[in-house]
Parts: sequence; C-alpha cells; structure tokens
Amino acid sequence: MEPWDVTIVGGGVLGTSIAYWLAQQYEGRIAVLEKEVDVAAHTSRRNTGVVHRPFYLDPVGRKVFARCAQVAYGMWKAYAAARGLPWLEISTFEVALREEDQARLEKYRQWGLANGMREDELELLTSSDVRRYEPNVRCHGAIWSKTDTAVDYREFTQSVRDDAEAAGAKFLLGSEVASVDVAGDLLEVRLAAPEEERVYIDPRRKISVHVGRGREAHRTRFLINCAGGNSIDIAHRLGVGREYTDLHFRGEYWEIDPAHHYLSSRNLYTVPRHPELPFLDPHWIVRVDGRREIGPNAVPVSGPYTYRGFFDSPKELSSKLLEVPLRNKLRLLVNPDFVALAAEEGASSVSKRVMAKRAQEFLPSLRVQYLVRPGTAGVRASVVDRSGNFVKEAIELPGPHSYHITNYNSPGATGAPAFAAWTVQRLARAGHLDHLKAKVAKPGGLWDFEHITESIEAPAAS
Ligand SMILES: Cc1cc2nc3c(=O)[nH]c(=O)nc-3n(C[C@H](O)[C@H](O)[C@H](O)COP(=O)(O)OP(=O)(O)OC[C@H]3O[C@@H](n4cnc5c(N)ncnc54)[C@H](O)[C@@H]3O)c2cc1C
Repeated sequence: MEPWDVTIVGGGVLGTSIAYWLAQQYEGRIAVLEKEVDVAAHTSRRNTGVVHRPFYLDPVGRKVFARCAQVAYGMWKAYAAARGLPWLEISTFEVALREEDQARLEKYRQWGLANGMREDELELLTSSDVRRYEPNVRCHGAIWSKTDTAVDYREFTQSVRDDAEAAGAKFLLGSEVASVDVAGDLLEVRLAAPEEERVYIDPRRKISVHVGRGREAHRTRFLINCAGGNSIDIAHRLGVGREYTDLHFRGEYWEIDPAHHYLSSRNLYTVPRHPELPFLDPHWIVRVDGRREIGPNAVPVSGPYTYRGFFDSPKELSSKLLEVPLRNKLRLLVNPDFVALAAEEGASSVSKRVMAKRAQEFLPSLRVQYLVRPGTAGVRASVVDRSGNFVKEAIELPGPHSYHITNYNSPGATGAPAFAAWTVQRLARAGHLDHLKAKVAKPGGLWDFEHITESIEAPAAS
C-alpha cells in the first residue's frame, strides 16, 4: 500500500484539529490513528468543559497558550453557532481567598487586556459586590471574567472530525500504535494486535466501525504525535525528548445535588495557592447541561487511563516509577512541598469530606451531603524536566520524519483549533510538509487560516 503522507497519532481535540487544517490546506493522504473507537475518548472529553478566557495567562511567559486561547474563543463561538452546538456563557468569578491575593486580581485584569480581552469582559469586584451577585460566596474580592463559557469538547471534536473527513482526512479508529521505526525515508508504524475483532455501532453516525480488521503495516512519510498521556512514551520510542519524563494526575469531580445548584450560578475559581501548580485548587463548575460540580483535585496515579484507584496493576505502577529518566522524578519526589501536596490531594480523593472542606473556603454553606455522586474523572499528564520542575507550556519536539507535541495541558481544549493551525504553519515553514501539494481551491470553512496564524504571531498589545 502507498505510504501515507502524514499520520497523526491521537484523535483528541488537538490531533483532530491538526487533521482538519492539514486536509483543508493540502492534497495528500492524511491519516489519524486513534486507539479508541471514537475521537475525544480521553482528556478531550474528561475535562472541565470551560472555554477559558486568557486573563490568568501571563502574556509573556505563556504567550502561545494565551494567544491561542484568545483567538480560539472567537473560533469556537462561531463554530458552535454554525453547527448548533451548545454554548453556555456562564462566566467565572476567580476569587481571592486571602487578602494578599488581591494584587493578583489586578494583575489578571492587566494580563487579560494584554491578551486581547475587551475592557467590558473583565471586572474587579469587592467582597460585597461578589455577595450581591452570588450571595453564598465568601472572599476578599474577585475578578469577573464575563465571557467564560461552558461547552462539550467531545461534541466539538466529533464535529471537527466530520469537517476533517469532508476535506479528505481518514480516521483509522481502533488503531493503537505499538511501535514506530525509521525505515529509510519513511516511518514504519506497528499497530497493537487488537484483543478481539469487534464491530462497534457509532450511534452518532449510525454506521458500524470494524476494529481489528485488515491490519497491515502502516507506513508514513511524516508523523505528528498528539497522543496526549502517551505522547512522551511515543516520542521516547523514536529517541526524542529523552530528557523529559511525565507524571499523571487524576482530576476528580463530585456532582452537586440539583436542590443545591442555587449556591452559585457562575463558575467559581480561586486564585491558586501555588501559581506553579494552578490545577490543584478545586472549583465550583457549571456544566453545559446545567449540572454543578466541585473539582478537580489532582491525585497522582500510575497511568494516563487510571480513572479509578491509584494504579491499574502493580506492574504498571513499578514501571511508571522506574522509567527513565529517573532523575527528574527523584528530584521532584524529594521536594517536601510536592510530597505534602500529593498527600493532600490523595486525601481529597479518598474522602469527599476533604474535597467539600476545600470548597467551603469560598462556599461556606456547602455541605458534604450535597456531593451526591462522582463526576467524570480525567487524567492530566504533566511533564517533568531534568531539574524536577513541571514544565508549564506545551513542548514541541522535532524528531526523525516526525514532530511530537507533549505536555499539551489546560487550557489546551480551548486553544486547540488555533494551536493546530499555528503548528501546521510552522511545520510548513520548516519544510516538513514539502511533500504535500497545497490545495488550490480550499474547501470552504468557517475559520480563516491566515487570519488565525497572523493573530497568534502579532506583536503584543501595548
Ligand atoms: C481534569 C482536566 C480538566 C481540564 N479542563 C479543561 C477545560 O476546562 N478547558 C480547557 O481548555 N482544557 C481543559 N483541560 C485540558 C484539555 O482537556 C487538554 O489540554 C486537551 O484535551 C488535550 O487534548 P489532546 O488531543 O492533546 O489529548 P487527548 O484528548 O488525551 O487525546 C490523545 C488521544 O491519543 C490517543 N492515543 C494515545 N496513545 C495512543 C496510541 N498508542 N495509539 C493511538 N492512539 C493513541 C488517545 O486514545 C487519545 O484519544 C483539562 C484537562 C484535565 C485533565
């Protein structure tokens, strides 16, 4: 069989968006290998479901994510309207729990404006302003981000997949990459043998998906690794990113009894206790279907798909702890702050009382019995560098006939369609897509490639 021109590993929101842009811009054989039977089966579904506005992202230190979040907000908004997907502009109060956090709120306002948000999207509130809008919330003050929006990223990703397929990309579902090897000018991708042949009915499309049929070696001229929690492992197999390792943290949520939804009609986030680990503080979230949840925490677990318990098998745990490079994790594990935090997060997993207590800091009338059932947990893969520090931004690593994107964390779902366009542009500039022919007549689409990529690269607002 002819080799594929570009193969993307991973049909999350990122891999699917990259497939969309490649198929929009180029002729050629473009494939997505996804191990599950649908796109967005993992983190791109199991997240908080917020289109985050970039007020909390440093316009210099986190420039790319801030720009992508800002640009993608308009993209997703137009997309939801055109495709009839839910878009619930719920807004967020980011509250200061300590007097000293107030200065950060002002900084957030400045960052939001520098990142391109409008003046009328952000408002600083005193504690009495907050009580006027949300009488159950206690804090020293807040920043109100008025355009934060609740969505369903799984539906977004499924719809972008439809558009990518219409433009010519092929999604090979149930295809788990087991190994990748260089074979001359090509990469040879070996797929894991499926446990059994299955026919899965895709309820959305009313078609059957055959998993485990017609397997043959998958050869490709170029590979883009967007495998989320597995991306570092796939990079390591090609000798790429050996200086990095990763740790997995499960974020768990608790659903609130509908009788107590009145406690807040907006998202409630807190100024992070540890700005370097902003994913640690639980929030009150309004889901796109109106459910309210508390979460997530960040419980260390052994693998990217450990949605229950702390490890799937003793073998998985020991190989996670002993995988190379060992030094990165050892440095982190002797950091007393990290160990204390991990213990606290573990306690909030074992005990919903601990989780409720953390949320009572800003919602004192919340009671543990209002947390009625666990919500959908998601796992975050955080990359650790040689010094034992968590890396904040996404990491992009070129490799043999390949490009690897790892540590693509929050607000990654928000920024994905913009980040994907920017990635395609940079791959083209670096000559990695020279074997593809640009489409003369581009298929019509809602999003404008040139405008998006220029907006990401534009000089900072003064
Ligand atoms: C708890 C939590 C809450 C979050 N909340 C938000 C939020 O509110 N807003 C926001 O913007 N972001 C949020 N994020 C971040 C966001 O969800 C992620 O940045 C985004 O979903 C990452 O997308 P992805 O495509 O890179 O990864 P994934 O969605 O994980 O996709 C990777 C895909 O690769 C596939 N794969 C893996 N290994 C292989 C293999 N060997 N062969 C074939 N396929 C493979 C997997 O099956 C998976 O489908 C949150 C993250 C977490 C963990």
